[in-house]
Amino acid sequence: MAAALRGPGGRFRWRTWAAAAAAAAAGGVRGAARSAAAGRQDYDLLVIGGGSGGLACAKEAAQLGKKVAVVDYVEPSPQGTRWGLGGTCVNVGCIPKKLMHQAALLGGMIQDAPHYGWAIQPVLHDWRTMAEAVQNHVKSLNWGHRVQLQDRKVKYFNIKACFVNEHTVCGVAKDGKETLLSAEHIVIATGGRPRYPTHIEGALEYGITSDDIFWLKESPGKTLVVGASYVALECAGFLTGLGLDTTVMIRSIPLRGFDQQMSSLVTEYMASQGTRFLRGCTPSRVRRLPDGQLQVTWEDLTSGKEDMGTFNTVLWATVRRGLSALSPASCPSSVNPGSESVLLSESSSASTSVNRMSAECSEGQSRQRLSGPGWPGPSMPCSEAPGRSRAASQSSGLPRSLSGFPEFSERLEVRP
Ligand SMILES: Cc1cc2nc3c(=O)[nH]c(=O)nc-3n(C[C@H](O)[C@H](O)[C@H](O)COP(=O)(O)OP(=O)(O)OC[C@H]3O[C@@H](n4cnc5c(N)ncnc54)[C@H](O)[C@@H]3O)c2cc1C
Repeated sequence: MAAALRGPGGRFRWRTWAAAAAAAAAGGVRGAARSAAAGRQDYDLLVIGGGSGGLACAKEAAQLGKKVAVVDYVEPSPQGTRWGLGGTCVNVGCIPKKLMHQAALLGGMIQDAPHYGWAIQPVLHDWRTMAEAVQNHVKSLNWGHRVQLQDRKVKYFNIKACFVNEHTVCGVAKDGKETLLSAEHIVIATGGRPRYPTHIEGALEYGITSDDIFWLKESPGKTLVVGASYVALECAGFLTGLGLDTTVMIRSIPLRGFDQQMSSLVTEYMASQGTRFLRGCTPSRVRRLPDGQLQVTWEDLTSGKEDMGTFNTVLWATVRRGLSALSPASCPSSVNPGSESVLLSESSSASTSVNRMSAECSEGQSRQRLSGPGWPGPSMPCSEAPGRSRAASQSSGLPRSLSGFPEFSERLEVRP
């Protein structure tokens, strides 16, 4: 969840090839960071990511007397959903999910109630009311987290961070304002986000993900959930429980990586409650029909035949990837992304072996390194990095991820 580098002597340290070279030339990165120019700030610990991991880490460190800052920034989902401090769990994960499950369970109890002697009039569920209550609760948690940080004297920055060097990050606010923050130790706790399939026509244009479902103002209606991860099944579960016509499309097996006997029990139970399963199928196209419905075309992988169905909502729950925004190309001070390099651990005994870490585009492009020659030196202002180009910034539009590095993702990459 959260990741840090522990160097010799229990010290957290970040090391980049470029920074190492620059440090040698400039007499030490830390020295440069210390001689902070106007606008720079020094912290004992800087946490990138204000989710469960980052907030816990920041609060603990502050309680131990450290000067701590947290930077958190939520990139809106492709459908424009945005939320506040607290990360996935609070805003688009555990919390809203459990509340929606609770709503579904209540519906089930109401259905059972007449058998226990309760005289129940037909009861209808109103998505709008539930969603508003869930969203208000989440907003109260956002606020609570801010207050907790303030109480513990943890400075909070609502900025999107990327590394400038081993002790410095550059953060960009919504209005484009840049802030340079330096710290002795930097923790990465950036979590993960759902990704859309890039090869399916209409997937991004017409689909949503778990980042959106909890923030919908209107009922999603008849829904196709594509995927077999726990996120997919949980969303399908509460949608069914709320009385919505719900179908789950699975390419191979549900809940890969989980005990398969348990996963069978889960899917059998879901089917008994009314969730439809399309197994061994993979979608190939989503189109919007003139009446506004979504027409999904899929292939049955066993027969090779094509089939179609119409839905009001298509929810993609196939892949989650982490660390999308720390690569230099996502930074305004980005330099030639082609010469990016790897974040290195100073010690092979580091708690996170960062020399295994590399960033790659989720579209399967060749592996790219995180920093490298031409990477701004330690005393370089954010906006004056050499080689900065529009093209470099634009290339950051590609979602990037860390592969082979489970600590940096939520290990949710369950491909059906
Ligand atoms: C639908 C769903 C249901 C779930 N249910 C459960 C459950 O029941 N139980 C459970 O234990 N787990 C559950 N999870 C998983 C749980 O939500 C995550 O494991 C957990 O939230 C991860 O916490 P984190 O701190 O690592 O990352 P996150 O909570 O994702 O926080 C990372 C934060 O960093 C921010 N960030 C990223 N990059 C940058 C950057 N460059 N600069 C600044 N900020 C940045 C992100 O916007 C985010 O706010 C669920 C997840 C989902 C999607």
